[in-house]
Amino acid sequence: MKSVSATLPFVHFARPSIGEDEIAEVVRCLRSGWITTGGIARRFETEFAARIGATHALAVNSATAGLHLALEASGIGPGDKVAVPVHTFTASAEVIRYLGADPVFVDVEADTLNLDPQSLERVIRKEGPVKAVMPVHFAGQACDMDAIARIAGSVGATLIEDAAHAFPTTFRGRTIGTIGRATVFSFYATKTIATGEGGMVVTDDAAIADRIRVMRLHGISRDVFDRYTSESPSWYYEVIAPGFKYNMTDVAAAIGVHQLKRADKFQSRRAKIAAAYDKAFAALPIEVPSVRRPDDLHAWHLYVIKLKLDQMRLTRNEFIARMSELGIGTSVHFIPLHLHPYWRDRYRLTPGDFPVASVQFERIVSLPIYPAMSDDEVARVIDSVKSVMSAAA
Ligand SMILES: *Cc1c(COP(=O)(O)O)cnc(C)c1O
Repeated sequence: MKSVSATLPFVHFARPSIGEDEIAEVVRCLRSGWITTGGIARRFETEFAARIGATHALAVNSATAGLHLALEASGIGPGDKVAVPVHTFTASAEVIRYLGADPVFVDVEADTLNLDPQSLERVIRKEGPVKAVMPVHFAGQACDMDAIARIAGSVGATLIEDAAHAFPTTFRGRTIGTIGRATVFSFYATKTIATGEGGMVVTDDAAIADRIRVMRLHGISRDVFDRYTSESPSWYYEVIAPGFKYNMTDVAAAIGVHQLKRADKFQSRRAKIAAAYDKAFAALPIEVPSVRRPDDLHAWHLYVIKLKLDQMRLTRNEFIARMSELGIGTSVHFIPLHLHPYWRDRYRLTPGDFPVASVQFERIVSLPIYPAMSDDEVARVIDSVKSVMSAAA
């Protein structure tokens, strides 16, 4: 087994699908003489807003930047509390700290690993009202937005969605990006559409959009241009706040406009791979990803299996090592935030505070799922999982 697999190329955990259209558009941009934020970024915003069905889309250089801007524009500041799931990437919580506010961590649902509405209610009862709630649509499946919106509404909290995994995703027929006050997507290299680094904030709220437009570029007001277009010289601008440097370049947007066109094809390929995995693993001591609402669109950014550890003789870490020996890249999403020294120590978090996330963390493995995977590569992942599991039975 080992000698055969050693001759086969490694199946990487993730790989972007960059086509000739993306490459040609980037080359065109580079030759145009305009390589920072300009017409292509604006075009990407217009087309993205139309795809979501949102009024405003603001392109930024990462989803982390977008989340920071969305919270800032919502008035989150020192001493405020923002509810965030403990099972997420550190970016979701770090942006709360950027503003001097504090995250309150919420446990997740055992099946979907999404923010658990009951835990959210419990945490709010214990910690007091939060100023914002940030659901994370884990793996590309929507959170229970009806329950979460109801709970957030009951304490007057703003909904800011971390949709880094969730393009394109729907919740009961509604597109993610049309529910919360602001929703943030990621175009990081491994995400469902990729620009290397990049992100997009979408909102129907004109005040939020205006504030983000100013704050993503040094706090420079555009109103001044609008007011003085004819009279004021082209070099004139006014700084109205200490803003950030979060704008998306046209080089990145040139990739984005073509990735956006291919997003639905990407999603159906991902869904097809997920279905092949579901079928292949049905008889193994593996829990496949639980899908709550089969009629909704699942972005399938991640395919996260849960090992039935009590039915096998391997730990999750050993499983990952065996898969790697067979030439298959895997990962773990996520190491919950309460296990990281900064969050653990600053907020005195213990595994007992998050019983679900703590138990599920020991069992989860993310398998490769991306449109650039060939059928052969999908078959190799399946064969490798079967082979590791049969040796572990
Ligand atoms: C990738 C990711 C982010 C950050 O996205 P960037 O574009 O890399 O800043 C935020 N939240 C989650 C859940 C992510 O997976």
